[in-house]
Amino acid sequence: MVDTSFSNMTHSTQATERFLHVITWGCQMNVYDSNRMVDLLRPLGYKVTDKSEKADILILNTCHIRDKATEKVFSELGRLRQIKEYREEQGQETIIAVAGCVAQAEGEIILKRAPYVDIVFGPQTYHRLPKMILDIARKSGNVIETDFPVESKFDFLPAPEEAQGHTAFLTIQEGCDKFCSFCVVPYTRGAEESRPVQAIIDEATRLCELGVKEISLLGQNVNAYHGQGPDGNIWDLVKLAEKLSTIPGLKRIRYTTSHPNDMSDSLIAAHRDLPALMPFLHLPVQSGSDRVLKAMNRGHTAKEYYELVDKIKKARPDIALSSDFIIGHPGESIDDFKATMKLVNDITFAMAYSFKYSPRPGTSAAVSTNQVLENEKDARLQELQAVLKDQQTKFNQDTVGRTIPILFTNKGRKEGQIAGKSPYLQAVHVQGDESLIGQEHLVEVNECLTFSLSGNLVKESIPL
Ligand code: SAM
Ligand code: SF4
Repeated sequence: MVDTSFSNMTHSTQATERFLHVITWGCQMNVYDSNRMVDLLRPLGYKVTDKSEKADILILNTCHIRDKATEKVFSELGRLRQIKEYREEQGQETIIAVAGCVAQAEGEIILKRAPYVDIVFGPQTYHRLPKMILDIARKSGNVIETDFPVESKFDFLPAPEEAQGHTAFLTIQEGCDKFCSFCVVPYTRGAEESRPVQAIIDEATRLCELGVKEISLLGQNVNAYHGQGPDGNIWDLVKLAEKLSTIPGLKRIRYTTSHPNDMSDSLIAAHRDLPALMPFLHLPVQSGSDRVLKAMNRGHTAKEYYELVDKIKKARPDIALSSDFIIGHPGESIDDFKATMKLVNDITFAMAYSFKYSPRPGTSAAVSTNQVLENEKDARLQELQAVLKDQQTKFNQDTVGRTIPILFTNKGRKEGQIAGKSPYLQAVHVQGDESLIGQEHLVEVNECLTFSLSGNLVKESIPL
């Protein structure tokens, strides 16, 4: 997971006739899915707007991973209903669609509690969206599409026609068969499936033709990727990344999220040998306690995680490590929590996401009787987050004085500034000409600010 995850975001471009507004909650895979929904509806004449009141179709792409996901959806739907009613008074029809993992898990409930919703569809059926829209236009009643279809949606998605900028997400693997005690993904995204290599190469090539320079390969367990290669053999993530690195224009490859048990020796070696593979690795550990890791069904011990990190750091000493932590999994004692703190202090992370355990319907941990008290979870989480924040600050401060390549992706906040990302996924800005956006240049970092680094372009900087 990178720094855009678990945030709210909307698509936006100028519009002329029929409009579409997509609200995206959740992980990068949801952002990818939303982009593909836009690609699917473009041929029907829909253009993206960032103004929900202007939209003929409103899509809420939801996330079910934590918190009161369903209640959040109903609260947002209340707002969308008002828009629909207002537009109706003006003689304009509006289609409201709920997509994503909450739709998958709670489809029937959504239609019952919010009958003004026209379409409900899960993450595996959105390739049928144009037909669903046509069915609604024909007034044949509400549409619900939450099955796990035999066909793969990827076979029905059009090639991207517009890139969102110089970086892009590309889903290469979906679903999960690991069934961690706390996680809804196997239920909402279905079984693990890797896309065929050629389809990924075609999509990546198209994105690069549209100006993309950095691609983040996405999967729930992306490092378990094993797709059908054009040679008839099964390719792993290393072979795929090597092939992708030959696409003209593609400078940087990232991948997320990785499971520690799928971190092969060849993938670790690729961090040393493949220049396009960025020195950043998101490797969730969740807990530092063997007792909790076992209860979570993670399939490895803390010691094995330490050993894995050692191997990775040997191959690529400057790698920026990131992780996810769950605090207060059922049965987590104060000693278990101390083991997590010890792991964090021993390994040190450049970035991390930490969450209070949130019981998810249908998962094994949710019915466990030894739930941790909410105030205890709060206190532990605060303690952990304070340490993780200090480690992130220290990692960023250590970059000051170094000269590193920055891929510029957008204008900075202030006049004359341009901003981009370091190989370690840090936000960096400099004074520079907008024409450098989309290029990679050497920057000498000279200051560590709260949310970003600032620096100077190296004199007479030539695109790398
Ligand atoms: N596949 C990845 C892995 O195995 O680490 C994780 C994918 S999950 C979509 C993203 C993160 O959400 C997890 O790493 C975990 O920290 C967090 N998460 C998942 N279920 C959760 C729950 N019930 N409560 C709190 N956090 C949760
Ligand atoms: Fe969820 Fe990741 Fe565990 Fe799969 S491996 S069940 S996606 S946490």
